[in-house]
Amino acid sequence: MVIVFFGPPGSGKGTQSQELGKTIKDLIHVSTGDLLRQEIASASELGHRLKSKIEAGEFVTDDIIVQLVSGILRKNVKKDIIFDGFPRTLQQAIAFDTLLGVENLKVDVVFDFDIDVHVVIERVTGRYMCLGCGAVYHKKNKKPKVDSVCDQCGGIRFVERKDDSVDVLETRLKIYQEETLPVKKYYGDKGVLKRIDASLSPDEVTCFIKTALLEAGLIRRGE
Ligand SMILES: [Zn+2]
Repeated sequence: MVIVFFGPPGSGKGTQSQELGKTIKDLIHVSTGDLLRQEIASASELGHRLKSKIEAGEFVTDDIIVQLVSGILRKNVKKDIIFDGFPRTLQQAIAFDTLLGVENLKVDVVFDFDIDVHVVIERVTGRYMCLGCGAVYHKKNKKPKVDSVCDQCGGIRFVERKDDSVDVLETRLKIYQEETLPVKKYYGDKGVLKRIDASLSPDEVTCFIKTALLEAGLIRRGE
């Protein structure tokens, strides 16, 4: 079974990969970032080229990513694999189908982790500010002593704090969403795209994924 997890950073793909790993025995999790890191760590010729490219701030081409994925597929024939963050471009998606075709495989299901840019930003940054005095809190790391009441001024109105890193993240997410539209359309036309409301709780998302896999006959009840 070949599953693709598709979604921006902060959409919960990593958490869901781990959850699914508990359900499906010997599930292999492949993320593009890990593939790149492993290749660089292996000190292969390609690894050296990748290292200099990344250090120079150059874009890693589709060809290289596809080459790495091809290696993974050859090493894991007949295993269940989640591809996390791949394919990300239409070119990668088409090349992926060719690779899978060689092994008599296909993409069984693509989960599209759909999430509002602002929810991601909130999750990734989590910082908010008291409107009364400007004291800064964080949803996980630094909550007020009394829930929703400012420690310093007793204020109860807060606003998400915006800074440069948030702007950068916002831009990246917007580009991500525009870039990935053709890939979504590609899998939508093939009838394998399943939209997930990734703003739901992790448990709800896990439940949704399992139900979809059950309905598609990809896993059995009790798994
Ligand atoms: Zn305050």
